[in-house]
Amino acid sequence: MSTSPNCPFCRIVTGQIPAAVVLATDDALAFLDIGPLADGHTLLVPKSHYPTLGDMPPDALQRLTGHLPALTGAIMSVTGASGFNLLQNNGSAAGQVVDHVHFHIIPRTEGDGLGFRWNAGSYAPGRADALCQAIQAALRH
Ligand code: AMP
Ligand code: ZN
Repeated sequence: MSTSPNCPFCRIVTGQIPAAVVLATDDALAFLDIGPLADGHTLLVPKSHYPTLGDMPPDALQRLTGHLPALTGAIMSVTGASGFNLLQNNGSAAGQVVDHVHFHIIPRTEGDGLGFRWNAGSYAPGRADALCQAIQAALRH
């Protein structure tokens, strides 16, 4: 398990700072977010320090996300939420503040007033095709 000394989530993993831990396995930890957007807002993190999703080996990511069905089910049943958002920020442009991979599980109820801007746009002619081909080519490399 690799940790980073100044990372707050590594410090939780190593027990240097407290957290309300709801799930602990050999390689994953889930704990309540200290600044909840909703009751039961939980963070799921790998115990090893990876700054962003792209830094994680696929098998480690698979093991981590494998906890989501049971964890989200437990959170929903305890909070009485009727839905949840899964949020995973990568990079400061996307709002990532803690550089240790984490999944936010944010319980939602009808009319809870939580929301985010979803300013849907549209593609200029040809742009979607060009993007599609470029991404397919990047995946082949
Ligand atoms: P992000 O903006 O995606 O990097 O989110 C970081 C999240 O970590 C925020 O929602 C913070 O409230 C949360 N957070 C930061 N420090 C702690 C901590 N010590 N214990 C629990 N949650 C934390
Ligand atoms: Zn870390």
